[in-house]
Amino acid sequence: MIIGNGMAAAEACRGLRKSGFTGEVDVLAPDDLPTYNPMLVTYYAAGLIDYSAMFPGGDSNEVFDRYGVRLHRRSPAVSLSAAERIVRTSDGGILRFDKCLIASGASPLIPPFDGMDSPRVMVMRTVDDAVRLKSAMEKKPRRAVVVGASMVGAKLVELFFRAGLSVALADRADRIFPLSAHPDCSRMIEKRLAGMGITLRFSTEVSRAVETSEGLEIFFKDDSEPLYADILMVCVGARANIDFIDRDEIDTRQGVLVNSRMESSAPGIYAAGDASQGMNLSSGVQQIVGILSNARRQGYTAGCNMAGANMEYAGELPHNIVHFLDMNFVGIGDTNRYDSCESVEEGGRFAQVFYRDGEICGANMLDFFSEAGTFKNALVKSRHPGNGHCDHGSPAWRGWSDWQNILARMDPRGGSVLRLRGPAAPARRAS
Ligand SMILES: Cc1cc2nc3c(=O)[nH]c(=O)nc-3n(C[C@H](O)[C@H](O)[C@H](O)COP(=O)(O)OP(=O)(O)OC[C@H]3O[C@@H](n4cnc5c(N)ncnc54)[C@H](O)[C@@H]3O)c2cc1C
Repeated sequence: MIIGNGMAAAEACRGLRKSGFTGEVDVLAPDDLPTYNPMLVTYYAAGLIDYSAMFPGGDSNEVFDRYGVRLHRRSPAVSLSAAERIVRTSDGGILRFDKCLIASGASPLIPPFDGMDSPRVMVMRTVDDAVRLKSAMEKKPRRAVVVGASMVGAKLVELFFRAGLSVALADRADRIFPLSAHPDCSRMIEKRLAGMGITLRFSTEVSRAVETSEGLEIFFKDDSEPLYADILMVCVGARANIDFIDRDEIDTRQGVLVNSRMESSAPGIYAAGDASQGMNLSSGVQQIVGILSNARRQGYTAGCNMAGANMEYAGELPHNIVHFLDMNFVGIGDTNRYDSCESVEEGGRFAQVFYRDGEICGANMLDFFSEAGTFKNALVKSRHPGNGHCDHGSPAWRGWSDWQNILARMDPRGGSVLRLRGPAAPARRAS
């Protein structure tokens, strides 16, 4: 049984069949849409891709037929009993299972404020959200306010800016990308955004929004000047879709707590993707890491293990790699808890690496796109249990070597590079 038909679910089906499972698989879908990739919905709303491109696997049946699984459309799970081994669906159906994967993703959060029910207030996660925004854009709005200065917020700021709207970005944090950027990097990005005429408002929250003849008048808790908008986009995070779970039966916090095999506290019940709390390799604690690569790896691992394999997935290093408004921003790992850091800045390009306990724990890069993947992979490998120390052969050391290459490329003559704090090299493990 698989609850959900998203990115983690599709990978779980692949894992099940690849590991030789020949039994029946039921997949519960809440609607009759094909499996879509939430990463692509803003591109559709912006008119950059066709409607069909949001469904990279083609028609729902194409994805699930390939793995010979039974898809139950319009049948969201409404309750799950681990003890009885049954799932109840919204249409009154009762389905039995031997093993079950919770892959129901997450839904956008809207912090409560007066006026949040206005049709001008929107979120961005689903195909319906994208269709709604696209039709709002066709009415030629003039002003948009985006609340939430994260990856999704940045993509929406770009969408509105490119469409010629006057745009404001607000966050209760004191800067853009508060979870993935160091303040030094945030400030550089903010400078560019301000230079484009984008209004920035940080360290405050929306208190209420009032319909006026001028559009929505948006008030803030710090009593700063209200902002007017035809569209108020709220992207302040997501909440795992796990209301159908009995929390006395399955351990949950923000999501379903899973081990490295993606199994929950209830034997035979697994979870993957944005509904699960697996290992965050940066913090070393179980957290929801809401990125696609994590959902896919977790889904595949769960599928293999449901089929009887013994596969482990150590976890993911949070990373934020965004191309927006002609900038390439990369935030990898922990950029806010560190012992020392080292930075280079040249011609507007900026890179910064952070060290904790003698090892690289994170990095920010602005307009260093090509190095991001290599660097991230090296850091991920260095965080896997039993492989977390820096010696010459370790991936973390290679990550550091990549950093040295960046330094050398940016500063071949040792001239214009700005070096801040930082050790000469990560500490080597004593042998
Ligand atoms: C706008 C946006 C941009 C993003 N950009 C990036 C990016 O650039 N890079 C990146 O790595 N990640 C990005 N992400 C995150 C990434 O898309 C998610 O981490 C990933 O899709 C999670 O996969 P999932 O399978 O857990 O959830 P989903 O893909 O959301 O699938 C879950 C499915 O389960 C269904 N469901 C919910 N409740 C039930 C129920 N009770 N019964 C049955 N089915 C149910 C849902 O309707 C949904 O179809 C972005 C997300 C958004 C919203």
